Amino acid sequence: MDLLNTLVDKGLRRELPTREEALAVLATSDDELLDVVAAAGKVRRQWFGRRVKLNYLVNLKSGLCPEDCSYCSQRLGSKAEILKYTWLKPDDASKAAAAGVAGGAKRVCLVASGRGPTDKDVDRVSETISAIKEQNEGVEVCACLGLLSDGQAERLRAAGADAYNHNLNTSEATYGDICTTHDFSDRVSTVQQAQAAGMSACSGLIAGMGESDADLVDVVFALRELDPDSVPVNFLIPFEGTPLAKEWNLTPQRALRILAMVRFVCPDIEVRLAGGREVHLRSLQPLALHLVNSIFLGDYLTSEGQAGKDDLAMIEDAGFEVEGTDTTTLPEHRRPCGEQVAAAPETDAEAPAATVPAPSDEARRDLVSVRRRGAGTDLPPNA
Ligand code: SF4
Repeated sequence: MDLLNTLVDKGLRRELPTREEALAVLATSDDELLDVVAAAGKVRRQWFGRRVKLNYLVNLKSGLCPEDCSYCSQRLGSKAEILKYTWLKPDDASKAAAAGVAGGAKRVCLVASGRGPTDKDVDRVSETISAIKEQNEGVEVCACLGLLSDGQAERLRAAGADAYNHNLNTSEATYGDICTTHDFSDRVSTVQQAQAAGMSACSGLIAGMGESDADLVDVVFALRELDPDSVPVNFLIPFEGTPLAKEWNLTPQRALRILAMVRFVCPDIEVRLAGGREVHLRSLQPLALHLVNSIFLGDYLTSEGQAGKDDLAMIEDAGFEVEGTDTTTLPEHRRPCGEQVAAAPETDAEAPAATVPAPSDEARRDLVSVRRRGAGTDLPPNA
């Protein structure tokens, strides 16, 4: 298939595909799916071998957010019956983080609900970062606290945060459909503040919110322009009690095509399989390991994931290996102060049709379980 040969060549050279090529990946048929996975898998192996980086989420503060992101179970007015609690104490957060590290996680992601942190919140998180770093040698810490105000990124960096996560989630054109309390440019600005403060930027998307193929391509190209080091790809978990509860739009095949498209657009960036993988990829999860080089281990912020031991078994069974703390995730040219990725030259590749029939999937509410263990509970975490 000319399209896939072109995309592999470009991925191996770190060249940006055209929008038409990215759209064409989303428009491939189920008959072509394994060819698409194999092609994107070549690009993945070129830059990341067969390594899988494990990341572990610790929800520092859950629920009761004043923002109205319609995909989020913690939003203003959410009726989802999730755990709700205020800031975890540094020692409790550190214990939760240690469980993830013991399970093989190389990065701990400290997340708090809310529009953004107060300066007091930054103090609390700074203490938590210190506690985690003292007790877990070599662990990377990523903070995800919402929109940052002036100076907060620098303070988090000084406290030892290696990375900051703030997702763009969807295209600029449709951002107003999923959230009215902040806008796309607020999100871009926070990612840029984190980068300017010397933190590794992590920014990704959520697929399955009713967006078009063009929206998906737009957000991935916007991410590529921001040049984060990691791109989490979430698949919407349509929580009962949120406005998107009925958005069951993804099939496992569609989820794989989306991951392949992200890999082609971000060939040498850490692409992370994030929330919703169990719900939407289901038994095809191992195929996704040929596309992504990073996953979350265990549970998510407000929902339960596959058992940590099953994640590890899946990685081993699929012939991949967990990345150790002695290995640097990104290829050499992308490490701090590394060269920028060159702009794409024009190509004369054929531009296939950009639209596909709307995917359909039955609602698999049976696969969605609200998190009832780990941080904020008396039960041990899943790691
Ligand atoms: S700001 Fe974060 S926690 Fe609040 S509703 Fe949006 S995604 Fe959820």
